[in-house]
Order: sequence, then C-alpha cells, then structure tokens
Amino acid sequence: MPNFASPAIVLRRTDYGDYDLILTFFTLKKGKISAIAKSAKKSTKRFGGILELFSALDIVCSARMDRDLMVLQEAGLKNSFSGIRADLNKTAYASYLAELVNEWTEPDAKQEDLYLLLCHVFEQIDAGLISEEISAILFLMRFTSIAGIRPNLLKCSICRLELDKIKEDRVAFDLSRSGIICQKCAGRSVSRLSLSMGTIKQLLWVESGGLKKAGKMKFTPAAVKEGLDLLETFTTYHLGKEMRSLKFLKQIRKENRPPVY
Ligand SMILES: [Zn+2]
Repeated sequence: MPNFASPAIVLRRTDYGDYDLILTFFTLKKGKISAIAKSAKKSTKRFGGILELFSALDIVCSARMDRDLMVLQEAGLKNSFSGIRADLNKTAYASYLAELVNEWTEPDAKQEDLYLLLCHVFEQIDAGLISEEISAILFLMRFTSIAGIRPNLLKCSICRLELDKIKEDRVAFDLSRSGIICQKCAGRSVSRLSLSMGTIKQLLWVESGGLKKAGKMKFTPAAVKEGLDLLETFTTYHLGKEMRSLKFLKQIRKENRPPVY
C-alpha cells in the first residue's frame, strides 16, 4: 500500500507503552486518522520532539493491512503553535475546538473547509491578535455550517417572522427547534437561552464574509458571553454529551478574572 502524505494537525496525543505515541491527526487530504509513532517517547531524535498537541505538521504515514492504525514514518514542522501551549486560557480553547473536531468527524472523511478553518483559528489564537473567545465564536459559527447543524438566527422558528420584523430587543433560543423564537411565540417554548438582537447580528456577520475580515469584528463583552454560551450549549446538545475539554474551559473561566475582549 502506498504511503500517505498530507498536512495535518495533532488533535490528540496518547502514550502507548514506554516507547510509542498514538496520535490522532486531522489531515487536509483524508480528514481524521490515527497513527502510531514508534519510539517517539523513547527518543526525541526520532521525530525531533515536534509531535506536540495542536502542532501543524507535514506527515508521511504507511498503512497496515491488518489495522486501522497507520504508522507515522516522517513528520516535518509547519507551525508548532507554541504560543497556544504556553498559555492556559489559549490551551483550554484550543483543546475544546480540537476535541470538537475529533468527536464530530468520521475517520478517513476529507473535510478541507474544516481543516482550513481549524488552521486559521489556531493561527489566530497562537498569535494572540484576536482574543481566543472571539476566535472560538468564529470557529463555532462556521463549524455549525460545515457540520450541517447551522442554527436558525434569521426568523422565528415557530411563526417564521423574520429577524428585522421582530420588534423586541431580545429573543429566546430553542435548542430542540435549533433556532430563535420571537417573544410572542416564546410562551409556548421553554428555553434558558436568550439573545439580544445585537448578538444575533454579530454572529451572522462573523459567519459571512472572509475569515480575516470576520476575525476583526468588534464584539461587546455581553455579545461574547451570549454568543459563546449559545454556541457551546448548541454544539453540546447536538453532540449529545458535554466534552471533557469544555468542562475544563468552564472551570478556567470561573477561576479567572473576567476576560478582556
Ligand atoms: Zn414567532
């Protein structure tokens, strides 16, 4: 079987015995794959110590006929994203996005848009030019579109009244209907999620247009909080479970001072 070569991001890294590592990569050409890196733990010389979590690499793997697990043959560093791993808050956000991609995607299913989005957002978080909170909103809004679970923010999910015709300042969000509910209809729906019109407009703006432009969007602190709360709750609902990394992220938020956006 021929070797497989692709740009890849390290989503997971697990020790395997005393010498080896098992890595889950999100690759440009094949989506999610798992590979064993033999002797990577025993000697950093084998792969130059570059097989770190979140790193962007160029990898070459060989397939084994008997198992799903590939064997990592070569790895070259494209971007270590060391700025992410050096900062607890950045690590918490990157872990959440990496786990979401790992949980959501099927092995060997190419998803080029999602790969490019993850690379872009990791670059942003690593460089620190845009806060990790806004980077996460950008990722999550676009992720829902790519994953086919885009929330309906354009009209009431019950009476279909369009957003610009809704008079109230705030609307509810109904998880089971995957969309907003106008105040008139909200009496029939139980929801703890509520969004201001300003937050909705900012979320829609981030979703459309170029990635670079979307990253420059100025959010108010209230919109960041509401947007993240919505998107984290929404993706957890669709995944059917709360991921470990999201619990960790929420813990970090509690312990930290209020973030500066
Ligand atoms: Zn309605």
